[in-house]
Amino acid sequence: MAPFRDLIRPAAPTPAEIANRSWIYVPYDRLTDRTGPLTEQPASETGIVLIESGAKGNRRPYHKKKLVLLLANMRHFALEQANRGCKVLYHLTGQTYGEALLHLQQKHGLTEITVSDPAERELRLDLALAQEQGLRLRIVPDTTWLSTPEDFAQVFGPYKAGRSYVMDRFYRHMRLQTNILMEGIRPQGGKFSFDSENRKPFRDELPVPIPPEFPPNDLTQEVIELVEQHYAHHFGSLENFNLPVTREQAEQQWQFALQRLLPFFGPFEDAMRDDHLQLFHSRTSPLINLSRLLPADLIRDVEEAALRGAIPLPSAEGFIRQLLGWREFMRHLHRETDGYRLVQVPLESSSPANPPAPFAGAAPSALGATLPLPAVYWGAKSGLHCIDTVVAQVIEEGWSHHITRLMVLSNLATLCGFSPRQLTDWFWIAYIDAYDWVVETNVLGMATYADGGLTATKPYVSGAAYIHRMSNYCGHCQYDAKRSTGAGSCPYTALYWTFLERNEAALASNFRLQMPYATLHKKSAGELVQLRARASEAIEQLKSLAYPKL
Ligand SMILES: Cc1cc2nc3c(=O)[nH]c(=O)nc-3n(C[C@H](O)[C@H](O)[C@H](O)COP(=O)(O)OP(=O)(O)OC[C@H]3O[C@@H](n4cnc5c(N)ncnc54)[C@H](O)[C@@H]3O)c2cc1C
Ligand code: SF4
Repeated sequence: MAPFRDLIRPAAPTPAEIANRSWIYVPYDRLTDRTGPLTEQPASETGIVLIESGAKGNRRPYHKKKLVLLLANMRHFALEQANRGCKVLYHLTGQTYGEALLHLQQKHGLTEITVSDPAERELRLDLALAQEQGLRLRIVPDTTWLSTPEDFAQVFGPYKAGRSYVMDRFYRHMRLQTNILMEGIRPQGGKFSFDSENRKPFRDELPVPIPPEFPPNDLTQEVIELVEQHYAHHFGSLENFNLPVTREQAEQQWQFALQRLLPFFGPFEDAMRDDHLQLFHSRTSPLINLSRLLPADLIRDVEEAALRGAIPLPSAEGFIRQLLGWREFMRHLHRETDGYRLVQVPLESSSPANPPAPFAGAAPSALGATLPLPAVYWGAKSGLHCIDTVVAQVIEEGWSHHITRLMVLSNLATLCGFSPRQLTDWFWIAYIDAYDWVVETNVLGMATYADGGLTATKPYVSGAAYIHRMSNYCGHCQYDAKRSTGAGSCPYTALYWTFLERNEAALASNFRLQMPYATLHKKSAGELVQLRARASEAIEQLKSLAYPKL
């Protein structure tokens, strides 16, 4: 196959087409022609601008597979739009998106460029800086979302620092508003959430389906070589790239998830296995966040399947809650707090501003956690089988499912007191589905309690018992999950009790932590001494690990 630049060249506009067509800038994460500005005019009257920005690619050492996924999808999208009859200005640059748009506007005399209101704060900032330099943009609402800022305000009122935002309230509002899984004003099955039924470990009750693979075509291979050449020092492995890069492949992956995985999603949603890394999770987030799959379509398909009886209601509701509830809720919280800059909690002054201003992230640390993120997150082997397994998967795939992110990776960081900002930045570079609005809310908010309870009503922390119950990790570990002190004991449990002890002033009044604090207070002075010793030994061991070469 010819190189991409030869394939896209025929779609380049003539001066007359530059003048006569309406021009739309399609951000890297809005690769769809099924909603938004691209649906509002015929392809024969449309020009689109797509930009590969070295400034963005180099801002953080993003996982190499994320770069390939994003760039290969962008290039395939450009060709798909050219086939529809759009003209395409496909621009490769070292500049930021805003600088590049301004350059293109001036060079071609584009009167005005339309863009959907960007999802990422970083892109909004980038475009705003260019607007100050003269970039003429028409910013229209982003219709890939299922809710508006008004929905959020209707439920919670104007943003107020210091209060708690409970996702369930927003989710109920969205169910009522959209009429999804509803019978009039009553939720199907008699309740809005089946979460309490969805907490089973997986004990090989059924075979786990093998997901389809999408080996690279020539176009993707070209992107892989580009990434190898320019981003070799970035995080993660580039071996065995097999992710969807076309609209058809995205749909194929979704149909597989819908038919083979989601019927079993609910009960095993929280289960973890070292031999079935995906279990029944859809792995749709990387494609949804690029808009290759649209949340509205996925929800419609799942609801239809539930109504036909092809997906049990608890599984269907569990999946729909993630998309209609959590995903929408998180993006509103990010915007309302200006990327957690408006959260009024102590800041972590020791966290390095990387990248520097204006793109440095906010660093709230309500619990005063500041320890540097240790080398285990970069692949150094710790001997803790749970974390070593998940990190190895992330290095290989740039993805792991929700509970591994929450109860293994973030749990360890929160228990030890590792910097929430450094953990956030690690998730941001390590995961192929990470974008500021979703990674900052999930890590600073849900996973580490760095926002002081804005997003989650209590810290998501546990000792070994939870991981032991929900996974098969502990059976393959050198540490004993049943023991909390002494040589060979699992460090998670000692870390858990010392976390509660360390943060008693901040957390003891939390209603949801009354039971653990009552148990902590019953422990003898001797046991507490041993727990503290085991916890600090574990932290010292993690701190002593050397960083592997990337
Ligand atoms: C510490 C931490 C970091 C995370 N970082 C990201 C991230 O960078 N990008 C990202 O998309 N999700 C993130 N999540 C949320 C969630 O873990 C992933 O969306 C999910 O694991 C993706 O796998 P899946 O597509 O199989 O999801 P499924 O379990 O099949 O869920 C369906 C969809 O719901 C959405 N969703 C589910 N949970 C959330 C959530 N908490 N917030 C927003 N959307 C959600 C996703 O789009 C997902 O594709 C994070 C969660 C935690 C605890
Ligand atoms: S024993 Fe502890 S360290 Fe080992 S896998 Fe279980 S929870 Fe993780």
